[in-house]
Amino acid sequence: MHMGVTKSYLSENRHYRLFTCHSAELVLQHLLRHSWLHRVVTHAPFTLFPSSVPKAALLQALALQTHFNTLVDKISQDAEFLEEALAGTIQADDFTAKLFGIYKQVQREGQRQSIVVGLSRADYMLDQSEDGTSSLKQIEINTFAVAGFCVSDCLPVVHRHVLKSVGLLEESKRLHNTNSTPQMSAALAKAWELYGQRMAVIMFVVEDLQISKLGRRQLEKELWNRNIPFICRRFEEVSRGASLDGDKKLFIDGLEVAVVYYRYGYMPEHYTEQTWDARLLMERSLAVKCPDIGTQLAGTKKVQQVLARPGVLEKFFPDQPQVVEQIRATFAGLYTLDMGQEGDQAVAMALANPDKFVLKPQREGGGNNYFGQDIVRVLQEVQSDKRRAAYILMDRIRPRTEQNIQLRKGLPLNLTSVCYEIGAYGAYVRHGRHMIINEVAGNLLKTKSIEHNDAGIVSGVSAFDSPLFI
Ligand code: ADP
Ligand code: MG
Repeated sequence: MHMGVTKSYLSENRHYRLFTCHSAELVLQHLLRHSWLHRVVTHAPFTLFPSSVPKAALLQALALQTHFNTLVDKISQDAEFLEEALAGTIQADDFTAKLFGIYKQVQREGQRQSIVVGLSRADYMLDQSEDGTSSLKQIEINTFAVAGFCVSDCLPVVHRHVLKSVGLLEESKRLHNTNSTPQMSAALAKAWELYGQRMAVIMFVVEDLQISKLGRRQLEKELWNRNIPFICRRFEEVSRGASLDGDKKLFIDGLEVAVVYYRYGYMPEHYTEQTWDARLLMERSLAVKCPDIGTQLAGTKKVQQVLARPGVLEKFFPDQPQVVEQIRATFAGLYTLDMGQEGDQAVAMALANPDKFVLKPQREGGGNNYFGQDIVRVLQEVQSDKRRAAYILMDRIRPRTEQNIQLRKGLPLNLTSVCYEIGAYGAYVRHGRHMIINEVAGNLLKTKSIEHNDAGIVSGVSAFDSPLFI
């Protein structure tokens, strides 16, 4: 395997020294040149070298994404399904209950906006079996505040440079390019266009401390080039300044909002009592939401677990057994922890063999799952009452590891064992019953040291990476 060259490169001290004073400095020098800039911003974390990814696995993930777009969109409109799937969860988890409360209220009032825009990402790992083969297994589907695409788009250029600068010319030709941002922004642009009010804006709802601001700039540039007006507002600003008119049009600071694009609001900590009201206001409004509240709920871990039950995918793809088969092939074992016999069995199974499973609450953003003895600790505490329904149980994936170096502010340059997660981006726009856009938009590769069980770019564990096809 050609990455062997890279590995020997990395493992020899002489070469390692050469690499540190050559490639790493080349890559970072211009970022660090301006000390004032360094104090205010830092580069996104990334791996110095790309990771070897089987081409077939990446193509498989990409080929599935339009089906996942369809699936989450169908679920988002299926109140009965969501209510049944989340029944136990909303009794045990306040955050999901609050989101569901908004969903129900919007449903009761009658959903007025028939345009929906979804920017999604399904994440996978390659599960290694004992015979050395690997299979693509889904970790989760993200339907809310999906990020990372702007950085992923840029990284192959950096990796190509690094490979060439250490003499790996042939390898550099096998780097896979991705370009998600144009399609992601085109979906937002389409939703804006369908809203049909030239002076209305796209409102990015952003985090207080804007850690991904520079990445977002790429997206903003695309909108700028299309002459689409956009603004950024924090939840508090929406809370203070937004209102609905008699037709439920959303206004803020005198501007009509055509599209609300959430980059924030996926964790309970993102909300206060006032900002929950602001979220409700936006959901009730005529503005197009990216995503709407139903689509956010469709991305919960609980829904993922319910989808793995026999017969459920068939309900959403009644005449497409091949699609069902392709999607199901990527599902790892997923188990309910709702009260009842099935949940009891899952608890017993996890307690007997905690290293084989991951315990997942309904949270996003990384750093929330439980592994190993922590599973035992949590389950022993909640196993006999309804609190356990806040979680789902999942088979633990064992990905292949390789050696790489992560470049992250404050992290010493060390060669470590890492593993990666593949993400496939999707973009869609539905108008009433018609899917106007349904596309796969590109890929993400994020890599973490195997010291960490959980991952996440925002939680400070993972680094951006790019695939080198094998
Ligand atoms: P989040 O919404 O917080 O990102 P994920 O389900 O993506 O939650 O899990 C976070 C991280 O935990 C993943 O990026 C992955 O590194 C690890 N992880 C999640 N599920 C599994 C699994 N079944 N096997 C192994 N690792 C997992
Ligand atoms: Mg994740």
